Amino acid sequence: MFPAPKVFSVLGIPVHVMNDYPTWLLECWQHSRGTHVITLNAEMTMQAQQNPALANIIQSAELVIPDGAGVVLYLRWLLWQKINRCPGIELAEMLLCAIGQQQTDKTIFFYGGAPGVAAKAAEFWQQQNPGLNIAGNHSGYHTAEEEQQLQQTLAQLQPQLILVGLGVPRQELWIAQNRHLCPQAIWVGVGGSFDIWAGTKSRAPSWLGNNNLEWLYRLYQEPWRWRRMLALPKFAVKAFIYRLTTKSAA
Ligand code: UDP
Repeated sequence: MFPAPKVFSVLGIPVHVMNDYPTWLLECWQHSRGTHVITLNAEMTMQAQQNPALANIIQSAELVIPDGAGVVLYLRWLLWQKINRCPGIELAEMLLCAIGQQQTDKTIFFYGGAPGVAAKAAEFWQQQNPGLNIAGNHSGYHTAEEEQQLQQTLAQLQPQLILVGLGVPRQELWIAQNRHLCPQAIWVGVGGSFDIWAGTKSRAPSWLGNNNLEWLYRLYQEPWRWRRMLALPKFAVKAFIYRLTTKSAA
């Protein structure tokens, strides 16, 4: 049973709305249903306007969750939808916790981050939840040869959950190009989540997240992001105009 999510459009990019993303993904896990999860935010939506390959990948992903405040506010204010934000890192954490409770031989793989970060994140999760079967990890900085080895490893191991933290849009493009290697896996682009789990970066305090201001904390932590973040006001203006001039919500 895979209840179809409601699909809404944010600047022509789909976002899937449902009450319980973790349960839906657990169903995919249990039935070995190949799934690409995209964690959509305003920045990615703006990138997709300029990058048709990225837009196509999002269009064909099985699950696009409302990860960013901009996307959530768009759905609430302009489409009158009562929806909550679903941060990708929290969805990945819920999935890992639920999988760790199961007796299963199915395995997990972490790919991305600076050298040692995915390994440290895997160690963190293994300690938190000994029921998890994290079969391997790989840094996101490597030579073409090392990447070939990684592809062979994935094809051999056939992990059923593959978290890819290479940043947007690198991780989305990489997943789209490589998901045939493990067609039954759930592939999730997790951005900088490994940095958080490895303890090299911290997440915004929850009161900021609850007030849709997580982006402000990221800007404080990584001021070099200011240029990328100009996408946010541009998104707001474009979203407003798009909504005024387009009748259909879906
Ligand atoms: N990264 C990587 N390989 C690269 C470029 C980036 O593994 O070639 C990693 C980087 O170390 C960081 C993550 O990708 O852990 C990007 O995190 P960020 O929070 O910037 O992701 P985004 O905001 O794009 O989702």
